[in-house]
Amino acid sequence: MLEEEIRSTGFYKNKTRSVIACCEKLVADFHGEIPHTLEALTALPGVGRKTANMALGNAFGVPAIAVDTHVLRVSNRLGLAHSDDAQAVEEALMRQVAKDKWTAFGNAMILHGRETCIARKPRCPECLLRAVCEWPDKD
Ligand code: SF4
Repeated sequence: MLEEEIRSTGFYKNKTRSVIACCEKLVADFHGEIPHTLEALTALPGVGRKTANMALGNAFGVPAIAVDTHVLRVSNRLGLAHSDDAQAVEEALMRQVAKDKWTAFGNAMILHGRETCIARKPRCPECLLRAVCEWPDKD
């Protein structure tokens, strides 16, 4: 049963409903194929802009920047964006980064946020971007 398979991921009841509804829509509207556009992906149950961009960039080779909590935080600290709104940050980054680098840039920002620019205690002294970082609270 699907619910049992994804129980360990948390919020598994909601996720189960979304996965089943998403699959039903894929079969009904897309002949069982996953679409390759942001608009079509975000129309699927349970798929938001971040997930759609992650799929576009990493599964389908369509340039995209997926803004998760790490990208949001690191972009603001570095001074690349000045907003708490994920779409606004995505658009700010898209204006500043070459399109063919969008996916790799987004993935690198996620890694940087997980490993160095950590939310509660960023490791500024060892950060390679320290010299260009605009965050006034950096160590
Ligand atoms: S210097 Fe500190 S705040 Fe700035 S990007 Fe690096 S880890 Fe993050």
